[in-house]
Amino acid sequence: MTTETLEARSIPEAKKVGMVSLGCPKALVDSERILTRLRADGYAMSPDYAGADVVLVNTCGFLDSAKEESLEAIGEAIAENGRVIVTGCMGEEAEVIRARFPEVLAVTGAHQYEQVVEAVHVAAPPTQGPFVDLIPQPDVKLTPRHYSYLKISEGCNHSCAFCIIPRLRGKLASRRIDAVLREAEKLVAAGTRELLVISQDTSAYGVDIRHESRDWHGHPVRAHMTDLARELGTLRTPEGQVPWVRLHYVYPYPHVDAVIPLMAEGLLTPYLDIPFQHASPKVLKAMKRPANEARVLERIRSWRQIAPDLTIRSSFVVGFPGETEDDFAYLLDWLEEAQLDRVGAFRFEPVEGAAANALPDPVPEAVKEERYARIMEVTERISAAKLAAKIGRTLPVIVDEVGEPDEDGDVGATARSQADAPEIDGQVFLRNVPATLKPGDFAEALIEDADAHDLFGVLTETG
Ligand code: SF4
Repeated sequence: MTTETLEARSIPEAKKVGMVSLGCPKALVDSERILTRLRADGYAMSPDYAGADVVLVNTCGFLDSAKEESLEAIGEAIAENGRVIVTGCMGEEAEVIRARFPEVLAVTGAHQYEQVVEAVHVAAPPTQGPFVDLIPQPDVKLTPRHYSYLKISEGCNHSCAFCIIPRLRGKLASRRIDAVLREAEKLVAAGTRELLVISQDTSAYGVDIRHESRDWHGHPVRAHMTDLARELGTLRTPEGQVPWVRLHYVYPYPHVDAVIPLMAEGLLTPYLDIPFQHASPKVLKAMKRPANEARVLERIRSWRQIAPDLTIRSSFVVGFPGETEDDFAYLLDWLEEAQLDRVGAFRFEPVEGAAANALPDPVPEAVKEERYARIMEVTERISAAKLAAKIGRTLPVIVDEVGEPDEDGDVGATARSQADAPEIDGQVFLRNVPATLKPGDFAEALIEDADAHDLFGVLTETG
């Protein structure tokens, strides 16, 4: 085919899809997958409502407040564009959405990729040009290129009383280990410097597929958290650096002990996100939490002996039905002992359809507020002391953003230490960085100051 004929044929403009992505990192991964599929089908992405032929709203339906936010986002998309498809967790409540917005074009649930893509095809049939599919495109990413979420499973086999995720997302369904590792390898080769392993229950990875073994680069690897962690620890960036690998949503099952030595060896980021939710055995039992065992404090101590820089992030619910002042005091004492590095606290909120709603002895709102203020006071004090102890140390950091020069020509940058997961933890603010520094660069920073959440410092070395 000659150049003239190529130019003479008009290539129809691709249909554009807008995306509003709400909710947790897992929902963000779903949005990325949907957009990757749509782009392979010849669609383009629209950064605004006005330019979109159809708008997808990926909703969150976990808490009532998240549902309301999802409904508001649907309302805004309808007002601004009018052609709206709803997907995600709240898609399970299609009747609620349709009752409020009868003009919505289609409603699909979480992970129903085929159905969402089909609904887009119906709403805005693709205008594939003859050359659109010739070049494979990299996956669409909604996070910056230097960090990526690696989803290892869907759903959950537990039945925590406050949670409706198993109902929304179904039972645990683990991905094949070789597929997970291939994705991780591809991401690192394409520029990812930090992998965030996510699921509903990372410690349970592979239980549903009997930890099935697959061949990976000539040796068998099981679908198991420890094998996964070990293999991720062997990845290298094209420059030969060890990418950061963070484990999220880890429950303290006994085999968690096996990943701590990998952290001590520098092959896995010394960071564990363990959603403890409470400490009182009575409340944990009422919550029906998995891996609820008495020796957790002892194990935290031994983990820290092996990997002294281990950062533990966790979240807690205050005001769960039946939580007495004694239970709450137990939690505060436990926190003083555990000295967790990062803590998020939530006031218990009944979620429609959750078993906890039927429990007796609801905690009055005023008491919840008061307990929330107290837990925040304790955890902020611990966090501030832990961060203050880092002043004077040199820590490895990853750069997220480099600013513009100020009036004196100084350039600042925002980075994170290994203790900081993107978007949920703190940051390291760097002064006076070289103008050549870029997002995704690894560096060493001397910490000069700290507050309750963030660190402040100066680079000693870039890598
Ligand atoms: S472990 Fe509990 S809180 Fe987490 S997704 Fe499963 S049921 Fe929900």
